[in-house]
Amino acid sequence: MNKKADKDTIKFLNRQTVLSIIRKYNEISRADLTEKTKLSPTTISAITSELVENKLIREIRIGESNGGRPPLIFGINPIAAFSINLRITPSSALVAIVNLANEIVYKKEIILQVYDEESLQELLETSIKSALDNFPYDLDLIQGIGISFPGLIDYKSCKIIFSASLHVKNFDVQQAIYKVVGKEVYIYKDTDALLLGEYHFGIEESYKDVIYILVENGVGMSYLYSGKLFRLPEGGFELGHITIDPEGELCRCGNKGCLGTMVSEIPAQKKLSELLAQGIESRVSQAGALRYEDMMKLYEEKDIACTMVINEQINLLGTAISNMVNIFNPELVILGGPLVAGGEELRNNLKSIVSKKSLKSFSQKTKLKLSALGDNSALLGMSHEIFSDRVYKFIDINNK
Ligand SMILES: [Zn+2]
Repeated sequence: MNKKADKDTIKFLNRQTVLSIIRKYNEISRADLTEKTKLSPTTISAITSELVENKLIREIRIGESNGGRPPLIFGINPIAAFSINLRITPSSALVAIVNLANEIVYKKEIILQVYDEESLQELLETSIKSALDNFPYDLDLIQGIGISFPGLIDYKSCKIIFSASLHVKNFDVQQAIYKVVGKEVYIYKDTDALLLGEYHFGIEESYKDVIYILVENGVGMSYLYSGKLFRLPEGGFELGHITIDPEGELCRCGNKGCLGTMVSEIPAQKKLSELLAQGIESRVSQAGALRYEDMMKLYEEKDIACTMVINEQINLLGTAISNMVNIFNPELVILGGPLVAGGEELRNNLKSIVSKKSLKSFSQKTKLKLSALGDNSALLGMSHEIFSDRVYKFIDINNK
């Protein structure tokens, strides 16, 4: 490398360091930037001026004086960059535009049942178009499109390998999006996106080893080790397909008695129907149409039949979580999905099962929390990754 290139590289790295520190602290003065980066005040002054000129950061306000001239406080310019993010489920897409300051500036749910490639394409197109129609700035400011899916995905080739709930296989997501807009696409397994959002925006900084468990149309799991998402190139942790009952019901994977066939909305509805048919007391008359969220609310209100159904599910889920605690020994397990509507009652019952069934030295340390951000966590998590790749690249300083 020649001297000029050397100098340019250092200049670039210094600039990215400053940018990343401003991202991390939200609001910061030149003096604090000098202290945190160990760069000279002259360098900090030059870099902040350049970043303001490029509109990546802005002067937010005048800070408090420590005797001398009051300092200028800098922050990320929210309208310097944007990302579009979609959370796809078998019956809908949640679409959001997120700005560089991690604010959701547009959000909409598009309801459309996905049952094949065409309907998935339609859902993607409708969602992206709705975001683009509500984007008042230059399209060049959109850094990328983040999309999360249930199922096995290959994030490197940007393809859904197989998704039983979406009824698609070998679906090229990048190509599908290029039909609408020429932007780079970042795809995520649904639980990966949810975990990233909770990690960056929902939980305290100290947690580094975290498991996220989603109970929705099945059971999914993701894992973060030493602050890094443990990403498998093709697929992920298929917690929903661990065998709980070898003689149980047939699962869509071809095996019998998988966790997902016993814990999630449809098995809960089935079980509730059975209990109602047996004459068990309940405020519910028709189990088939009852959503998981509503069942969880009735569980919180101590409805007899709903409590029996949910207690059985908690018992099975708690057993599965205990197995994961024994394998991974995480600091924190986050539970997400409609089950979270069960609140503290659910959390306490689940925690007591996990404490009982996992190794004592592990479970004493492992905290169990309910998702704090809900669906927003997937949208913010993907957006965080896109900005890391496109705006803050090469510097890992944001990693808490
Ligand atoms: Zn299965």
